[in-house]
Amino acid sequence: MILSEKIKKAISAFTELPGIGPRHATRLVFFLVSSPGKLKNLLAGLSSLLDVKICPRCFFTVENSDSLCRFCTDPSRDHKTIAIVEKETDLISLERTTKFKGRYLILGDLKKNGVLEDEQTRRLASLKNFILEELGGQAEEIILAINPTTFGDFSASFLEKDLKRFAKRFTRLARGIPSGGEIEFADEETLSSALEHRN
Ligand SMILES: [Zn+2]
Repeated sequence: MILSEKIKKAISAFTELPGIGPRHATRLVFFLVSSPGKLKNLLAGLSSLLDVKICPRCFFTVENSDSLCRFCTDPSRDHKTIAIVEKETDLISLERTTKFKGRYLILGDLKKNGVLEDEQTRRLASLKNFILEELGGQAEEIILAINPTTFGDFSASFLEKDLKRFAKRFTRLARGIPSGGEIEFADEETLSSALEHRN
């Protein structure tokens, strides 16, 4: 046996993370074993994540055992305008533009085959419940802030069908973002313009 059980266990833990294959995981494990200081920092950083929870309304992170996150509890934000994003990093990019003052729903990565995962269906159901119970059945606007790729278009059309009756206006970010590009990597000016010219 070339690798010990301990090393194998660590490699297998890394390979459960998105984007990390077995070769990459093996390199990381050997790197950490040879850099005890970095290993300690990593462990400390990761263990503090145990205190971070998920907001039950928008599914962004929440700390200090608050039930809702700071976006969902901020009275100065417009709770009738809701941007649907795939990832936390998309939310962060939209926040950086300082142009969006509504609230969010993080849906999770959309699959290319257009089929929603159970968790995504649950999140959409929680949005519909919020709109029914807190907004009288219709939001002012739902903005789909989904990447302008072919399968993004496909997902947008079925999300629109599913959610249209829950909003007076249903919009999508304008094509300021290069086609096939990603919201996460768009600069603030481009993303601000895509937000302003949504249609
Ligand atoms: Zn929230």
